[in-house]
Amino acid sequence: MDAGHVENDLVEVLFTEKQILDRLGELAAEIERDYDGKDLVIVGVLRGAVMVMADLARSLSRHVEMDWMAVSSYGSGTKSSGVVRILKDLDSDITGRHVVIVDEIIDTGLTLSWLTSNLGSRGPASVEICTLLRKPEALQMPVDVKYVGWDIPNEFVVGYGLDYRERYRNLRDIGTLAPHVYS
Ligand code: 5GP
Ligand code: MG
Ligand code: MG
Repeated sequence: MDAGHVENDLVEVLFTEKQILDRLGELAAEIERDYDGKDLVIVGVLRGAVMVMADLARSLSRHVEMDWMAVSSYGSGTKSSGVVRILKDLDSDITGRHVVIVDEIIDTGLTLSWLTSNLGSRGPASVEICTLLRKPEALQMPVDVKYVGWDIPNEFVVGYGLDYRERYRNLRDIGTLAPHVYS
């Protein structure tokens, strides 16, 4: 394992930490307006959504419960397997409650479409999705997303929670990796 600085492997920065925080602030304002006076649980999808959850939740000035799920739909590489497995379930009962699933990226949509129907079957008052990024060209399943940070082209991105082989999650910005990283 080389000890180089993580940022040296980025070939292009797509979104800076500042841009991300500003956009999450806008999404938080929409969420506050939409769920005014309602009980709200936000569900982060581990591990990629950790940064989005932390910053989105702190952009909310209302009360909100933060819960987590871990599902696996990806191997260690860059391709979706389409197989979804629950590795860690919610701690809370969401019956009768408003739920917003928080994720960092929608690629094929397989994970979130599966997760939405799984949570929907538990009798919540509502289930919506908030994702920082979405790749419209990669969608294989129709997924109704209420809150989107940005639509991006169909290329592999890292940083701000997004990994390549479990590295680069701790980058503050989001960007694309230099080709030498993959070889
Ligand atoms: P989907 O089921 O929508 O194809 O994939 C969802 C998951 O795949 C995301 O939560 C993320 O973990 C991973 N993923 C999809 N696209 C990318 C990408 O461009 N970069 C990284 N690092 N992960 C991605
Ligand atoms: Mg994710
Ligand atoms: Mg990953």
